[in-house]
Amino acid sequence: MADNPPSNSGSAIQPEEQEKMLREAITQRATDIHIDPNHNGYEIRFRIDSLLTTWKHLSKESGTGLINQIKAYTGIETGATFYPVSQRQHLTVSGRPVEMRVTLVPCISGPKIAIRILDRETTRKTIHELGLPSCSLSGLQEWITSLNGMFLVTGPTASGKTTTLYAILNEIIEESRHVVTIEDPVEYEIDGVNQIQVDERHNLEFADGIKAALRLDPDCLMIGEIREPGAAIQTMNASIQGHVVMATMHSRDAVSAVTRLRNFNGENHQIAASLGLVANQRLVRKLCRECRQEKKLAAHEEKYFNRFQLDPPDTAFGPKGCESCRMTGYFDRTGLFEIWRLDETAYELISGNADEETIREKSKLSGRSSIHEHARDLIEEGVTSIDEVIRLGLDLPWSEYHMLK
Ligand SMILES: [Zn+2]
Repeated sequence: MADNPPSNSGSAIQPEEQEKMLREAITQRATDIHIDPNHNGYEIRFRIDSLLTTWKHLSKESGTGLINQIKAYTGIETGATFYPVSQRQHLTVSGRPVEMRVTLVPCISGPKIAIRILDRETTRKTIHELGLPSCSLSGLQEWITSLNGMFLVTGPTASGKTTTLYAILNEIIEESRHVVTIEDPVEYEIDGVNQIQVDERHNLEFADGIKAALRLDPDCLMIGEIREPGAAIQTMNASIQGHVVMATMHSRDAVSAVTRLRNFNGENHQIAASLGLVANQRLVRKLCRECRQEKKLAAHEEKYFNRFQLDPPDTAFGPKGCESCRMTGYFDRTGLFEIWRLDETAYELISGNADEETIREKSKLSGRSSIHEHARDLIEEGVTSIDEVIRLGLDLPWSEYHMLK
């Protein structure tokens, strides 16, 4: 996909319809805007707190007009509707600087536009603002103090992995440390960090980026995503060579990251020698504080926890809906975490080719707390609801989980 460098500045006057849509999306805290063509016009939807909600329906004529306005304003060529095009954009909405990435994809019923609103605050969060339970936070702080072994954050797409990496990066950036990142795409520019953009059109893949980065004499490497064997091997080798390495990867839970690295041709000795701490995370919607109401769990909801050998929470709250939360019952999101600090037992199990289940069982004994325990605690505290936890599909096999998404 073409991804052009930032171009237009916020000084140009925005077309009125575009400005109105962006202003509304920002007011409603949307992270993405989708303009979808259908048989009788265009549907504009906002993604707010993980879920899509329809904002407006436009006639074919008005929708085409809005798309043409966006194309002209962003500099996406009017003729470029036969392949996906992405354009970074800086602009001002209601006097506030906003950064966004506009992607146009040709669909059968017409061009579709997706706008990701990039929130600068994402790069400024501290590890205390991620929503980690205190035991996991101290595990993370121990790793930051020792910087021993690779930090791997796992989870599905849009689970907050990059925000976690940036928060840790903020802790370890020092003048005396040379930090290099390899990302796809580079969404936020960070002062004092050399950021490499993966560029598949010019054959610069993650594995090549890591190789190039290692020639830059880095102290710390942040790898946007391990998604193929070459990058996995390069990442593990960089860690074994003594660099501080942080990366993201897709995996169901913390322990299954070992299986994933094995599937990426990682040898057991490499995995054991490189991994230091694995986090697994999801983003869960928080109940609206203005209207949440206490509820009694139904029998099937109590049983949900038995599957993970946990007692159900003593108290629980559910959503109601008020003006503050647009009648959804939820406002904002927080992280659900599992932090696995590898110890001697874990290293021996990995080196001895122990299967995932054995590692999961034995590492539980050495103090690993699961994402299900964190979910139960957040339900008990009224931070989130059982419906929201069930919606995440944490109990489903990984293959079904992806189908759910
Ligand atoms: Zn409410």
